[in-house]
Amino acid sequence: MKIALIAHDNKKTDLVQFATAYKNVFQKHELFATGTTGLRIMEATGLRITRLQSGPLGGDQEIGALIAKNEMDAVFFFRDPLTAQPHEPDITALLRLCDVYNIPLATNMGTAEILIHGLERGDFGWRTLVHEQKSKESK
Ligand code: PGA
Repeated sequence: MKIALIAHDNKKTDLVQFATAYKNVFQKHELFATGTTGLRIMEATGLRITRLQSGPLGGDQEIGALIAKNEMDAVFFFRDPLTAQPHEPDITALLRLCDVYNIPLATNMGTAEILIHGLERGDFGWRTLVHEQKSKESK
């Protein structure tokens, strides 16, 4: 599965710890992240991650574009609900696209725990069906 990892500054340490704890799960998947989040996780875990732009410079929009093209299967987005972000419209757009395309999205550690266990035990099989359907449609 293709998985996006994003964390606002006050939540980066949480996401690094989460990625460290579940490294054995994440390493079986193709990972993408916004710039600084990706760097922090790579340094801490050694996981291979495709790093996109930093969030305020368009990284959230890049992930949104991947969702719109059916190229993202889950999003772990540790948001900071207590700090205003300069790229709030991009964040809203990303969350909206997750809902448009029914992409599993965890915006906090509690949901992330549930999502990662689902991923671990193969609850994402339906995403494979979506991919197969899309590839049939494009033929
Ligand atoms: P960053 O972007 O990983 O480059 O910090 C995330 C964000 O702040 O939206």
